[in-house]
Amino acid sequence: MSEKIWLSSPHMGEKEQQFVKEAFDTNWIAPLGPHVNGFESDLQEYNNIQHVAALMSGTSALHLGLILLGVGTGDIVLCQSFTFSASANPIVYQGAEPVFIDSEQDTWNMDPIALRTAIEDLIEQGKKHRLKAIVPVHLYGMPAKMDEIMAISKEFGIPVLEDAAEALGSHINGKKCGTFGDLGVYSFNGNKIITTSGGGALASNNKELIEKARFLSTQARDVAPHYQHSNIGYNYRLSNVLAGIGRGQMQVLGERIEQRRAMFEFYTEIFSNISGVNLLKEPKGYFSNRWLTTILVDSKKTGGVSREVIRLQLEQDNIESRPLWKPMHLQPVYENSRFYGSGVCEMLFENGLCLPSSSNLDEEDRNRIKNNIKLIFSNAL
Ligand SMILES: *Cc1c(COP(=O)(O)O)cnc(C)c1O
Repeated sequence: MSEKIWLSSPHMGEKEQQFVKEAFDTNWIAPLGPHVNGFESDLQEYNNIQHVAALMSGTSALHLGLILLGVGTGDIVLCQSFTFSASANPIVYQGAEPVFIDSEQDTWNMDPIALRTAIEDLIEQGKKHRLKAIVPVHLYGMPAKMDEIMAISKEFGIPVLEDAAEALGSHINGKKCGTFGDLGVYSFNGNKIITTSGGGALASNNKELIEKARFLSTQARDVAPHYQHSNIGYNYRLSNVLAGIGRGQMQVLGERIEQRRAMFEFYTEIFSNISGVNLLKEPKGYFSNRWLTTILVDSKKTGGVSREVIRLQLEQDNIESRPLWKPMHLQPVYENSRFYGSGVCEMLFENGLCLPSSSNLDEEDRNRIKNNIKLIFSNAL
């Protein structure tokens, strides 16, 4: 069996171990310390945002984000349906109800038209006071239509919690993903474009919100010599050891984005002569970090080659690929949730595939991928 080619694997630079060693040498082995502060400043500077709290995961960042926006029992959060379950689950942690919104064709992210329809419909049902947050997602690194979504947010006075877990470094006309909404979320899980093994962050230009995030994420201790609590707290802060990895990874983020984008170019070339397979283009002014390269397969135009045919062929040669996210409104756990849209995300799920996109794939790995794809389509012709 050939060596496994992963969809997205960790890729360390040169400085990570040095930062971790420094944490050991100075005995900062705790969920606070100079690397946590340093990692936060790196993220602030890179994203051009004023305040960042480094946390244990993207999921904990989403959870705290909802708490900070006042989402509680019986409230409604408008969430992109086409996403990973971690975008939606924290809504349920808060006892609130997710209402799922379809995607649009240009970015595959939250459709502003379906979002408006949902809000107007829910207001008509007398639920205006329960609409507490909008959660758009920048899937696979492609920015969502943030100008349109922010305009709707302002019009109806509903804050935006932006899930940029997959989109560190992506931007629209230079404005980074995760900085459009009232709060933005990043993830540094093992499969993301840079990683701390596990980690996340919450970003905002609102100082009060991020100070409160730091307070709540460290057990909400009041100022007192004993342990005194006036709020329910969480243990969500990032470890100083892991933040050391993050500081090293921030130094190579630019390079990682170039490498991921080179993988996108690699696939663009392979599929350029194959009809029925399409890659998602960047709308004008949009820049994707191309965390994962994704394709849409129209088996009516490929001579019968479907998404599954490609996935199974790659699997035979120990190459990982994966269908696009299964929409939340189709998940058994959310089967009773409401959905607004026309089924764009269902079509994406049925016909889409994520291809190996790691930044550390070498010439040999790429040749193996290419030969397998060529084989599939030469058999089909
Ligand atoms: C990875 C991911 C998350 C969760 O981040 P973790 O750090 O794994 O908790 C949330 N949303 C999306 C879209 C993700 O891809």
